[in-house]
Amino acid sequence: MKKLILVIVALGLFLQLDAQTHKTQNVIIVTLDGFRWQELYRGADSALINSNFTKDKKETTKRFWAATAAERRKILLPFFWNTIAQKGQLYGDRDAGGKDEVANPYHFSYPGYNEIFTGFPDVRMNTNDPIPNPNMNVLEYLNKQPGFKDKIAVFTSWQIFPAILSAERSGLPVNSGYADFKDPKAGDRLKYLNDIQHKVPEIIGPDERLDFLTFEFSKEYIKQYKPRVLYMGFDETDDLAHDGNYQLYLQSAQKEDGFLGELWQYLQTDPQYKDKTTLIITCDHGRGDVPLQNWRDHGTDTPHSGQTWFAVIGPDTPAKGIITGDTTTYHKQLAQTISKLLGLDFKAAAGHEVGEPVNTVLGK
Ligand SMILES: [Zn+2]
Repeated sequence: MKKLILVIVALGLFLQLDAQTHKTQNVIIVTLDGFRWQELYRGADSALINSNFTKDKKETTKRFWAATAAERRKILLPFFWNTIAQKGQLYGDRDAGGKDEVANPYHFSYPGYNEIFTGFPDVRMNTNDPIPNPNMNVLEYLNKQPGFKDKIAVFTSWQIFPAILSAERSGLPVNSGYADFKDPKAGDRLKYLNDIQHKVPEIIGPDERLDFLTFEFSKEYIKQYKPRVLYMGFDETDDLAHDGNYQLYLQSAQKEDGFLGELWQYLQTDPQYKDKTTLIITCDHGRGDVPLQNWRDHGTDTPHSGQTWFAVIGPDTPAKGIITGDTTTYHKQLAQTISKLLGLDFKAAAGHEVGEPVNTVLGK
């Protein structure tokens, strides 16, 4: 009997220890479509500001320019550089020797998001058409785990996400494009957003909701429904770069950084989220790195557009700032990293391969 008690006490201690080593209870994932590592780490580019890609050079210089890369990136993305760089980790700074890439060969959106969420850079996913994804994604997997059912939500600007995340099969709530948020229990703020989103001009296009609306939907949803996992997908950076509008590309990135700062501050005021939430921010692909020739483009014909970045802040991630060194991280590793942060091992139902987690994120 004594032995049994001892075993029970030891087991209890072990479980407690395990619970102590894994603090993340919630994960928020954010993507900035086609936002380059060059601006994340170097801030605004002078060749682009002084080119025809910038309409108001004086205003853009005033708002975004400073002498050093370290100053410029802080101006462009204050939340990244005042908070994540201090308390989290940043990957893909090639100027500091860090490399982050997509493992898929295509370097555009659907293949990029498929890779992030399924952990599998499937060569079949060579399309941006709304074809339901045959691969199981990590959100779908989590939605089937105890304690996560109906605690997962997705809000994106680009309307193709119900296909990318196979919403019909997975049953995940995916609100994308200018679709209304439909739930009879939705509060007044969410209902108001349904109303006003149809009153703004579709500046980017009918398939891409403006990012501030996607953010407001996400924020109000978090406040009302308290999800454990939420994915928020922004789109403007890619669209504005394709348009050759560097001024608004920079503005959009800066606004999105502000959204993240606002969200992070809110999470720290709520006991469900405070010190129990990990925020992961990344992109689906890079862009060309010759400023005046191909910064607008990406894809197999655009060299280096598979170069990407990601950033993490949360209670299980040691504050290391910029990650340097010889290793290369790949976006196929992010799905398992998300799962491991929540203490779970992501195995895809159809048995497709899943990339290894990024151990430095997990403090290993
Ligand atoms: Zn694009």
